[in-house]
Amino acid sequence: MDQLNKIYESLGISGAVYAYGEKVLKKLDRRFREIDQIAELNQLKVLSAFQKNEVSEAHLSGTSGYGYNDLGRDTLEKVYADIFHAEDALVRPQITCGTHALSLALMSNLRPGDELLSPVGKPYDTLEKVIGIREAPGSLKEYGITYRQVDLLPDGSFDFDRIRKAINPLTKMVNIQRSRGYQTRPTLSVDSIGQLIAFIKNINPLIICMVDNCYGEFVEAIEPTDVGADLCVGSLIKNPGGGLAPLGGYITGRSEYVKQAAFRLTAPGLGKEVGASLDVLRSFYQGLFLAPTVTAAALKGAIFAASIYEKAGFKTMPRPDESYHDIIQAVIFEDAEAVIAFCEAIQAAAPIDSHVTPIPARMPGYECPVIMASGSFISGSSIELSADGPIRPPYAVYFQGGLSFPHVKFGILKTLQSLIDKKLLKNY
Ligand SMILES: *Cc1c(COP(=O)(O)O)cnc(C)c1O
Repeated sequence: MDQLNKIYESLGISGAVYAYGEKVLKKLDRRFREIDQIAELNQLKVLSAFQKNEVSEAHLSGTSGYGYNDLGRDTLEKVYADIFHAEDALVRPQITCGTHALSLALMSNLRPGDELLSPVGKPYDTLEKVIGIREAPGSLKEYGITYRQVDLLPDGSFDFDRIRKAINPLTKMVNIQRSRGYQTRPTLSVDSIGQLIAFIKNINPLIICMVDNCYGEFVEAIEPTDVGADLCVGSLIKNPGGGLAPLGGYITGRSEYVKQAAFRLTAPGLGKEVGASLDVLRSFYQGLFLAPTVTAAALKGAIFAASIYEKAGFKTMPRPDESYHDIIQAVIFEDAEAVIAFCEAIQAAAPIDSHVTPIPARMPGYECPVIMASGSFISGSSIELSADGPIRPPYAVYFQGGLSFPHVKFGILKTLQSLIDKKLLKNY
């Protein structure tokens, strides 16, 4: 396709890099078909939840003030609960981000004297201060809630022996993080999360099993609530917002635990009854409706990136032929310059702010300088094409998102071109 070649060239992608990309893509046909099938299944799951709850035009506009009787908000929460096969859901613009949603679920369901266990190693960086692993005002630790952690075994599997030993009469809740965050451990499949939950419930069925589902929604045909999770939590500026939700988070699962979260979000006695939706409902609904195909585009992009960079001689996580359980692609460059060049190229590929240059900086909640590339319609949205890398060994870049596959493809080719131009590639 001459025209394609030409437009790529006009955007700074050489004929050779374009051809390299095409060669890699050819081998991904079967893989992409499988992803399309999951998207098809999830699209119909979402559609049927809309139809079952009779979502109507009136639900798309919101309320102001207290937000009493906000039919659109309440119906959206039923739609979420149905998609996740859960009893209830809290889906709100007042939940400011994923960390807030997780923090809310933890703080509302734990009481002084309780213990929280992470059976999958260190949690996501921003949760360290929530838990009190790093001292912070307002942490769970400050409220007398203790924390234990059992790391995964070196091969990435659960350390069942140590998990059994760590569970004690104080253990009230476990946090199972599906995605790897800024770590180099495997992402957990929904199936393996189910096995872990079954193991924990077998020791004590009263332990609340919460899954940090960030970046995992719609990647598989089932969600953690389908395999026994009591709570499943995530951000609306990741997968389930479909790129349209301008903010927000969700908590879904068992009704008593979701209600606790609502009492903490608003106030005891008020719970889910208040919280005006203002003007966000249309984008929440429409984003959710698009989320299965947007997630599929992002997933294809992740696999394309892994294929390109594995071929170029780098370690990738996951490897392109592994099965994926979230949309994050890590490429381990072992070179800070390469991480920076990669992020600069992703920024340069963006629809918004493509002319600015990202630089590593300290970020609230993170422990070392982080470089973040995000030229997104929604500030910081990581279901849109984005990349970030903490500037610390092993100098890995974490790449995710993309609202359409052609855009992710372009972004990845742009990174490849940039690394070649800067002579940062080993085997090209
Ligand atoms: C993004 C993320 C969070 C936190 O979400 P924010 O919206 O950035 O606060 C928590 N856990 C995991 C695994 C994440 O990927």
